[in-house]
Amino acid sequence: MELIVAKFGGTSIGNGRRIKKAARSVVKEYMKGKKVVVVVSAINKTTDELLQIVDEAMEDAVTEKQLAEIVSMGEMTSVRIFSSAIEALGVKSEYIDPFMDEWPIITDSNLLNAKVDFEATEKKSKELLKLLDQGIIPVVCGFLGRDPNGYITTLGRGGSDITAFLLGHCLKADEVIIVTDVGGVMSTDPNKLQGAKKLDKISVEEMRDLATHGAQVLHPHALKYKDPDINAKIIGFEHGDLSAPGTEIIGPSKNKMVKTTTLNPEPISVVAVVGEKILNKPGILAKLTSKLAENSINIIGISTGQNSVTIFVDKKDADEAHRLLHDVVIADDNLSSLSLGRDIAMITISSPDFIDTPGIISEITKPLRDNDLNIVEISSSQTSVVIFVDWNDGKKAYELVRGVLE
Ligand code: ADP
Ligand code: ASP
Ligand code: MG
Repeated sequence: MELIVAKFGGTSIGNGRRIKKAARSVVKEYMKGKKVVVVVSAINKTTDELLQIVDEAMEDAVTEKQLAEIVSMGEMTSVRIFSSAIEALGVKSEYIDPFMDEWPIITDSNLLNAKVDFEATEKKSKELLKLLDQGIIPVVCGFLGRDPNGYITTLGRGGSDITAFLLGHCLKADEVIIVTDVGGVMSTDPNKLQGAKKLDKISVEEMRDLATHGAQVLHPHALKYKDPDINAKIIGFEHGDLSAPGTEIIGPSKNKMVKTTTLNPEPISVVAVVGEKILNKPGILAKLTSKLAENSINIIGISTGQNSVTIFVDKKDADEAHRLLHDVVIADDNLSSLSLGRDIAMITISSPDFIDTPGIISEITKPLRDNDLNIVEISSSQTSVVIFVDWNDGKKAYELVRGVLE
């Protein structure tokens, strides 16, 4: 029997009519013979309103425990209304909140920005399967958790998306459906720029980077629990239909689900271009990179400083890149000189856990510091850290870094 997790954001349940429409869409899937777990946010802007009231009433005098309990009322209310709306349509439903034995989401005690205890949650979430087997539709508070002391916690703003993907993963759901106020993931925020187009699909990796840089449509940490075998999509609430097409989220590829440390087998070369006004003059970066692009030279990495641009290329392309970029330097008064550096080793460390684990970079770099290994450059994204060291230090640095994570 197919199992789906459907999450409704604040706008999607923003008034009684919308809640009725949303409940109908859930019941429609249930009538097709599917098991449905519902996750809901607080109605409309309730969370913002509660936070503002607390701020006006007592500013900083509120404790974390009090604040978590107060904001939890948004989701505590919406699960009760949503569950009743399903029952009004003649189908059995139960709301699930953190005070109940069946509550699945267990976290640490960082009350306002809690981290999920995955093992405990996976175990507890099996309770929901019992309800589903009895033909009951559970309606679970999004955004909330419970710590080992029994205190209410929250997963951080926008955290209901995490709840949905986490439950989808733990229950081995067939699909996670995020219902929101826009038709899916668009080419940009449609509320900021006209003419945004809906995407039919997007990869987990792209979605994560978009979300990390502010695209509110999905919480970046939610995708940590996106299993490659679980379908996922973001759809607009206006359809009133969970089978509506929106934007499918694809992946991640299996090797992105595990921790990996790799040492690039070939050396990398670094070309550094210097100039007094590099950061003040428009178009300098474009001149440098387009020259390489016209000559089919791939750029592995790039970084800019006050007076320099550093470009990483394959060693086999280094001499040609050097010559081509020299032509650009000669022709441009804003650039003064360039240098082709020594061979560099590139070590890439990736793990889906990095996204919500603070201090990863210092943990990785500590053994290098302790062993006097100099880092030439470091870059990081949400789920990976790339370290460039001298080629001769590459093997040793790789072993040290690998040791940290194992
Ligand atoms: P919900 O309450 O359903 O969780 P959110 O307000 O958290 O909804 O997220 C939906 C909002 O995300 C949209 O109203 C839109 O303004 C914003 N958004 C930002 N970037 C994008 C994007 N690339 N595609 C779609 N929506 C986006
Ligand atoms: N209600 C919470 C918030 O506004 C969680 C969510 O909407 O996902 O942040
Ligand atoms: Mg949201």
